[in-house]
Amino acid sequence: MSVTADARELHSQITRLRHELHQEPEIGLALPRTQEKVLKALDGLPYEITLGGSTTSVTAVLRGGAPHTSADKPVVLLRADMDGLPVQERTGVGFSSRVDGAMHACGHDLHTSMLAGAATLLAERRGQLAGDVVLMFQPGEEGYDGAGHMIREGVLDAAGRRADAAYGMHVFSSLEPYGQFATKPGVMLSASDGLFITVLGAGGHGSAPHAAKDPVTAAAEIVTALQVMITRQFNMFDPVVLTVGVLHAGTARNVIPESARIEATVRTFSHASRERMMSAVPMLVKGIAHAHGLEVEVEYRGEYPLSITDENETLTAEKTIQNLFGESRLTRWATPLSGSEDFSRVMAEVPGTFIGLSAVAPDADHTETAFNHSPYATFDDGVLADGAALYAELAIARIAALASAGTPTPAAS
Ligand SMILES: [Zn+2]
Repeated sequence: MSVTADARELHSQITRLRHELHQEPEIGLALPRTQEKVLKALDGLPYEITLGGSTTSVTAVLRGGAPHTSADKPVVLLRADMDGLPVQERTGVGFSSRVDGAMHACGHDLHTSMLAGAATLLAERRGQLAGDVVLMFQPGEEGYDGAGHMIREGVLDAAGRRADAAYGMHVFSSLEPYGQFATKPGVMLSASDGLFITVLGAGGHGSAPHAAKDPVTAAAEIVTALQVMITRQFNMFDPVVLTVGVLHAGTARNVIPESARIEATVRTFSHASRERMMSAVPMLVKGIAHAHGLEVEVEYRGEYPLSITDENETLTAEKTIQNLFGESRLTRWATPLSGSEDFSRVMAEVPGTFIGLSAVAPDADHTETAFNHSPYATFDDGVLADGAALYAELAIARIAALASAGTPTPAAS
């Protein structure tokens, strides 16, 4: 049977796992209950399993049994992230989170269950695989750099040699119609960095600002000047997004506080803009503070790098999607998204690509539905079998191509 037909047979099994994960979301790098569920799903399958040391990651290696003519035995890595978010679920679905203040609001429960489904599909085809598959079940994508932890612990070399190709997938609760796959060669997701500013003044009486050093007015100026700087110093065709999400100062309306705190997230879409922001922001912030006779501490913290997909691996993924599901199921995005991903760290080391999959409800208007991370974000179970089939087929197709790479080409007649 075809991979898609076999995946459909597994639909209820994959859905059950997804619901179990959804009801019990865990946050960060320590996901013991999630790890347990993944291990249970892999139980009895012929995988070599390694558990994370610094996190609750699961790395599972399948050794293909077919011969290869390439110099090295091919290795393909498939990744699913497993963590939830500190969000109170308000979807009202029957399998809603039972954990107060935690929700799988980014659909990582779908990624994990789809990859577990792919594990079964691949194990069934082990004898025809002329290469090894590494399954990367990763905790802590949501700001904890779980991918960085797994890379340091050797996931890219888990099969005994460096992976030749890597694929990740992400579901969306909006953006595209139900079941649509999305790809983009080159820059697909922005880099994400954190900006932390403390304006240091001198506290005093609100009626006598001349006898104090007011950090509030300087902080207010910094917040707006950052936006002005972006429009004046950066090319609008290489956008920069900066959002101040934290602005704290003061305890009473007639007291000038000692300090003011600003925290922002910064998204950039090129190495050049990212590097420029790292020097332009401190210069602007210090300039404003000093102009008012204040001191300031600025920390510009690099978080996730740009997600840059490999052109060839993206073409492989596009061909695979079209072969399995038909051309109409594929959309190639014209522009990147301003979200960020730590799968970028994998793609910086191994040629790879990242694939979007719309899990909006089949009858929903995808322009109206709540986006990922919303307490109202819903992800439809109907895409689970296709997601599992795509994970499996990406490994099968890529390994087949890599394994025959050494085949001597017939002499021209
Ligand atoms: Zn996510």
